Amino acid sequence: MINVTKSYLPPLEEYVKYLEGIWERVHLTNNGPLVRQLEAGLKTYLGIDNLLFCGNGTIVLQMAIKALGLSKEIITTPFSYCASSNVILWENCTPVFADILPDDFTIDPAKIEPLITENTEAILATHVYGNVCRVEEIQAIADKYNLKVIYDGAHTFGTRYNGLSALAYGDVSTCSFHATKVFHTVEGGLVTCKDPVVAEKIHLYRSFGHRFDDYFDMGVNGKNSEIHAAMGLCNLPRVPDLITARQERFALYDAKLDLSRLERPTLRPGVEYNYAYYPVVMESEAKLLEVKAALEAVQIFPRRYFYPSLNQLPFLKSYQPCPISEDIALRALCLPMYPDLEIEIIDQIITIVNQNV
Ligand SMILES: *Cc1c(COP(=O)(O)O)cnc(C)c1O
Repeated sequence: MINVTKSYLPPLEEYVKYLEGIWERVHLTNNGPLVRQLEAGLKTYLGIDNLLFCGNGTIVLQMAIKALGLSKEIITTPFSYCASSNVILWENCTPVFADILPDDFTIDPAKIEPLITENTEAILATHVYGNVCRVEEIQAIADKYNLKVIYDGAHTFGTRYNGLSALAYGDVSTCSFHATKVFHTVEGGLVTCKDPVVAEKIHLYRSFGHRFDDYFDMGVNGKNSEIHAAMGLCNLPRVPDLITARQERFALYDAKLDLSRLERPTLRPGVEYNYAYYPVVMESEAKLLEVKAALEAVQIFPRRYFYPSLNQLPFLKSYQPCPISEDIALRALCLPMYPDLEIEIIDQIITIVNQNV
């Protein structure tokens, strides 16, 4: 069975070495030495100072919303994973959906400004498929209206834009280290903050809002463990090689898929890409379902991603139309993409897709 993604696992002996240290120290969680070592490694790799390793890529968004003091309207993208709008609702804020750009499916800055009201406090945008949002235009709008900017960078670990990590933009950027992502710690998340005061707040929130017997604020459990940090320490040095292996597989798809009948999102100039996902956009949902069924018949499981468009989630109070996102969500299919995906399987996928589009 071939899935859309497959978790990378380091050599077991290497992981066991870290486990032996954990067994010796009997320090399993609560900001242990491996968590701090991973954070130091991430600071160096990303070139970012204010960052925290946390429980997952969702809790970091929740803590970011709280640390920035948001309580009203947040303009967000409908083309993302449900986590990015659920956190807005979970924190009792209101998601206001701005439609996406038709070429790379990130939030369209021109759609943001008309949605701004006196209740707008922030923009929460997703760097889709590892590509980067229109960060300059978004920042210009934020500056003009005094809004905070949060980026859900769950897809962008390893991506750089204009010489900086993609996670260096906005007031806060987050990343997911879930087992399916480009870099993972089994479960895990990262938050980076421009303002060290915000980082300090999230640091407190991450551990219930108190230090020993001093209670500062209402916190939550956003921590991560030594066992998870150990996986990160094994995987982090391999990220450049893993990205190169993805890039080689990308090139095969690019070279042989019939791109005259499939759309591909464009990559922004200035982006050094992490090759996180390989989406293709079919001419119709019917075509997508045909291609998907043909692949599934041989035990290959691509994934509709993102689907549905988040403005159409059933638990939202009102329907806010986003025609471009709704259309792309019906037609986008992510093909299998991971560092050790076999070349023969890629050829098989290409043949089946080309026969069915
Ligand atoms: C994976 C993902 C998340 C959630 O991350 P978790 O670590 O699973 O909580 C959030 N947003 C996007 C865009 C994602 O792809």
